[in-house]
Amino acid sequence: MDETGEGEEYLFKIVVIGDSAVGKSNLLSRFARDEFDQNSKATIGVEFQTQVVQVDGKEVKAQVWDTAGQERFRAVTSAYYRGAFGALLVYDITRRPTFESIRRWLDELNTHCDTTVARMLVGNKCDLEDIRDVSVEEGKTLAEEEGLFFIETSALDATNVNTAFEIVIRDIYNNIS
Ligand code: GDP
Ligand code: MG
Repeated sequence: MDETGEGEEYLFKIVVIGDSAVGKSNLLSRFARDEFDQNSKATIGVEFQTQVVQVDGKEVKAQVWDTAGQERFRAVTSAYYRGAFGALLVYDITRRPTFESIRRWLDELNTHCDTTVARMLVGNKCDLEDIRDVSVEEGKTLAEEEGLFFIETSALDATNVNTAFEIVIRDIYNNIS
């Protein structure tokens, strides 16, 4: 960083974790490319995508990592978590077991990263209100207990997706600047 404030550059690694098929890859493609893929397969070989956002007039590069299907085999490696500044812990509001897995994902995150990592609990697929299986209240309560931000999103209709990432990015930014 230089004193004029020009040429400053921030690069924040953010990891997206949670059970299989909760919508992690689609949250990422919605954020990075404003795309949704109905039949999304694991994007093999793609480790992360980068998106530039402005925070207080500064350019911040969010390097968002996708598990690319490793979570199916409970084989998310320590390399995945290494150097992360932020994490999205994602469940599917229509499938309670994915919500019940969140504590396990949190334990795994805590094993690999220190507690300064900005954490956001994300209840995805909020467009599927009619088959909701986890209430907003339950999400809020868990987030309060564990000291997480909380938001419900839809990667399908884009509700709150940018906001989810932006809150995490801003929190990281505030913590380091
Ligand atoms: P991942 O395994 O966690 O990466 O999940 P994917 O992003 O591959 O999504 C799994 C499935 O859920 C796909 O069929 C997606 O089309 C679907 N999906 C993802 N996000 C949403 C959402 O917000 N709403 C709805 N209705 N479906 C979604
Ligand atoms: Mg995926």
